[in-house]
Amino acid sequence: MKTEYVPPEWAFEFHGHRCPFLPIGYRMGKLAMEYLKVEREKDHGFFVFPECGEGHPQICFIDGIQVITGVTYGKSLMEKTYYGKLAAIFFHPKKGAVRYSLKPEFIDAFGKFEFFAYRKKGIEPSQVPQKAADEVINWVYEQTDDFMFKVEAKPDFKFSPVKGSFNKAKCSICGEYVFERYLRTKDGKPVCIPCSEY
Ligand SMILES: [Zn+2]
Ligand SMILES: [Zn+2]
Repeated sequence: MKTEYVPPEWAFEFHGHRCPFLPIGYRMGKLAMEYLKVEREKDHGFFVFPECGEGHPQICFIDGIQVITGVTYGKSLMEKTYYGKLAAIFFHPKKGAVRYSLKPEFIDAFGKFEFFAYRKKGIEPSQVPQKAADEVINWVYEQTDDFMFKVEAKPDFKFSPVKGSFNKAKCSICGEYVFERYLRTKDGKPVCIPCSEY
């Protein structure tokens, strides 16, 4: 078992259930950090663009990426592309970009586990018997990086993070504070987006 890819217990608590995708994202994030030679992100300097969308299975891997990289939605360091793929681009302005995707052969082998038979019947991951969940999770830990991931350097990848600003003003209608990039103008007065009726 590749214990270096076993997420800490708090990761499963944060995620809410035991599924095999949390460890996959954790490992993907760890490998991408090693590839780019970056540390876990404390602040706002590392970005991830998961290529998944919504309404398809397996997007749990994004939580694993957040746990290991420190790149979180809350810090606005992450944005989905909605391509419906099990892949992600990792980008550090000083270190470059790399794309990790799950290989079809891995996804096919993975999909044969009993865990997915429960999922296809509409059973939520927290309700899948522990034995079935652990079986596939432990199998994932045994697989090689090469069997799981396709890795591509992305030298031409470009992304300009939004510049941070503390400037804010009160909406002239509701009186709530609004940060300046979201301020609109109505009848010559500053307003928030909901009050602007756009
Ligand atoms: Zn999950
Ligand atoms: Zn308002």
